[in-house]
Amino acid sequence: MAGVGRWFRRPAPVVSSDPLRMKAIHPDYHHDAVVTCSCGSQFTTGSTLTALRTEVCSVCHPFFTGEQRIVDTGGQVERFRRRAEKAAARA
Ligand SMILES: [Zn+2]
Repeated sequence: MAGVGRWFRRPAPVVSSDPLRMKAIHPDYHHDAVVTCSCGSQFTTGSTLTALRTEVCSVCHPFFTGEQRIVDTGGQVERFRRRAEKAAARA
């Protein structure tokens, strides 16, 4: 790899059996980290964490379900409606 810059030419301080991983700086990688969605579905993925939690996934997100629904986080839609009402009252 010619011309990739000096970052790649510097030798790694501690090289493990896997040439792409430097033991001293990389966290443990889990190939079977369990992701749990708020809808209840679970699947595994690769992560430095062993377990993750998420609010939406490909099972429940409207894009994948085809359902017309607004994913509201933290009452943003309600806040917008209140502001719109206020603006309409002023006009
Ligand atoms: Zn989900």
